[in-house]
Amino acid sequence: MAEIVDSLREIVGSTGVLTGDDVAARPAAWLRRDPTRALAIVRPATTDEVSRVMRCCHEAGQVVVPLGGNTGLVDGTLSTDTDVLLSFERMTAIESIDTAGGTMTVEAGVPLTRVHDSAAEHGLVFPVDFGARGSATIGGAISTNAGGNAVIRYGMMREQVLGLEAVLADGTVVSSMNRMLKNNAGFDLKHMFIGTEGTLGIVTRAVLRLRPELASQNTAFVAVDAFTKIPDILRELGTSLGGSLTAFEVLWADFYETVVTNRDRHTPPVPGGYPYYILIEARGGSEAGDSERFEAALGALLEKSLIADAAFAQSVQQRNAMWAIRDDIDGLFEILDPVMAFDVSLPISGAEAYAAGVHERLRERWPETYHGTTFGHLGDSNIHFLLTIGSRDHAEQKEVMKIVYSELEPYGGSISAEHGIGLEKRDFLHHSRDAAEIALMKRLKTALDPDGLLNPGKVIE
Ligand SMILES: Cc1cc2nc3c(=O)[nH]c(=O)nc-3n(C[C@H](O)[C@H](O)[C@H](O)COP(=O)(O)OP(=O)(O)OC[C@H]3O[C@@H](n4cnc5c(N)ncnc54)[C@H](O)[C@@H]3O)c2cc1C
Repeated sequence: MAEIVDSLREIVGSTGVLTGDDVAARPAAWLRRDPTRALAIVRPATTDEVSRVMRCCHEAGQVVVPLGGNTGLVDGTLSTDTDVLLSFERMTAIESIDTAGGTMTVEAGVPLTRVHDSAAEHGLVFPVDFGARGSATIGGAISTNAGGNAVIRYGMMREQVLGLEAVLADGTVVSSMNRMLKNNAGFDLKHMFIGTEGTLGIVTRAVLRLRPELASQNTAFVAVDAFTKIPDILRELGTSLGGSLTAFEVLWADFYETVVTNRDRHTPPVPGGYPYYILIEARGGSEAGDSERFEAALGALLEKSLIADAAFAQSVQQRNAMWAIRDDIDGLFEILDPVMAFDVSLPISGAEAYAAGVHERLRERWPETYHGTTFGHLGDSNIHFLLTIGSRDHAEQKEVMKIVYSELEPYGGSISAEHGIGLEKRDFLHHSRDAAEIALMKRLKTALDPDGLLNPGKVIE
């Protein structure tokens, strides 16, 4: 064991390898309090070092678990005392920005916020954004095919990656650093590494697609008195805003009451007492014209009684305050401790009955301790639950998962909208993928990592 650590030190230098207390000082994951367990955390500084680390581990039969910002929510980075964690914290360069082509070339360890800030300095935007932006890395976001708040307009991470460089389990470097929007020259290999959670290869660099910064940003917080109106609101806004709808975040009353009306964490933008609230945002090219159109679009919804109340953000502070409510996941983690996080998708028409069914079954099973909240990127068919049953017991938590995922089946939903499968959801994958799909995943895994050394046990067995 010590031999492999010495060999890895020779590749990345002594400061590039952490062991002992330096490993244990880090929490195992965002939602966990237990310490990280690993033989070592190895921190290469270049793709060449990653390649040599992988070759060395391959030859020694050493398991490697890739580690980004560790904000993933499905135990995708969980490791054991004998695993090597491969961290990208020394690969954080923004290598170049091509303003004419609208691309940014980055190393895998760059935090999402830095990508946003650097794009903004050039009048450009990187449109994937979510609450963990300060810690989540580009490599992690690619490996989980992260979604976030603007998927309805721009798509998920997969749509923002033009090119990618990956290192295979045996150390082979596959550099597909394409910079064009169109490139149909054979297989588009980057997709093997997007959303596969570090099981098929290590993402080391990427070419990201940037979009022009838009002049206008209009935000409103609305209250709705019946779920059946929500699909109509979405459809009407799609037409009246002419494709500029950028966020459509629905909060159930259980979320709003827990985070806003029953606490003094936030000033309520609209009064409580409604069953649903929506944070709506549109971005466009004309400041004055877009505001007028946005207000008219919401006015029309009020006139048709599709929405019951609306508050418009009149300043950046007010907009940020609205988003702070939607993004107050840290607050919910505190309130709902010990918290469980869920991320599912299903056709919007079934979302109300599905969520109600889940809450009912969980409340029946844990009547004294259950507290659940519901919210999500409903414009993308995506619902999140943050909930507690008041217990950390593994068997009980597994029971919760069974309820949440089995209730999805009649709707043909997915057990993972955007967080991935990791270790946490692996045993439930059959709810969303059939036997032939899982068998093909296993064939790909065997082809690329025959010895099962790369993030083993995650996604598939
Ligand atoms: C408050 C909060 C809000 C969130 N909101 C959203 C949201 O709206 N949408 C969303 O999609 N997710 C969301 N997430 C989940 C999480 O932030 C994303 O999944 C993120 O993309 C993970 O990035 P990371 O760098 O932290 O990766 P990690 O957590 O470190 O790793 C995630 C997975 O990717 C693998 N991996 C990491 N880096 C690499 C690499 N370079 N090469 C190969 N594999 C790698 C890991 O092994 C693991 O399987 C949220 C999380 C939190 C805590």
